[in-house]
Amino acid sequence: MNLSSILSFTKAWVKESLFEGAVAVDATVGNGNDTLFLAKAVGAKGRVFGFDIQAQALNQTRSLLIEAGVESRVSLFQRGHHRLAETLAETNVPSVQAVMFNLGYLPQGDPSITTLPETTLTAVDQSLNLIATGGTLTLVLYTGHPGGEEEASAVLERLTTLDPRFFDSAHYRLLNRNRAPSLVIVRKKK
Ligand code: SAM
Repeated sequence: MNLSSILSFTKAWVKESLFEGAVAVDATVGNGNDTLFLAKAVGAKGRVFGFDIQAQALNQTRSLLIEAGVESRVSLFQRGHHRLAETLAETNVPSVQAVMFNLGYLPQGDPSITTLPETTLTAVDQSLNLIATGGTLTLVLYTGHPGGEEEASAVLERLTTLDPRFFDSAHYRLLNRNRAPSLVIVRKKK
């Protein structure tokens, strides 16, 4: 695997927790690349729940999913991800195999609309409760935009305190690049 391809690395970790019929969440849909990956990985019997606050992101993603013929297994919500637990409870989904976050702003979108530490941490805590044993939570962290450094620090601080009896958490970053995205992986122990 290419060491610098954080996004491929992220997907490889997530894929380990997925199977035909699994349930997964894309907490930051954006242009839909991760949503599409999850929809393919869970198969026709699986479900994917996607969250984004911007209609532009959801519209673009809907087109991508239709083009790939996988739209029927995906539910998209124009809601902040701090409403993750409430939304899954509404649909009677008790647990999920994977939750992916790709923080920051929508590429080619308005760079002033970004994820924020407080709502990100709320959604991370909800995800930790929802993930089934053997399940994976990933967060791709960016520090090059205003507020990014603070958000990345808040996430790392929170996930450093996870009880090792129940979770493993790891941080993967490139040592010889400035401001490259980094990856946090959390696995709920069996
Ligand atoms: N994973 C996406 C992809 O594959 O294209 C990229 C995601 S982009 C870096 C971050 C997205 O998070 C933006 O589309 C932004 O609108 C969204 N976002 C910002 N705040 C959010 C929130 N509170 N809840 C859900 N999505 C949010």
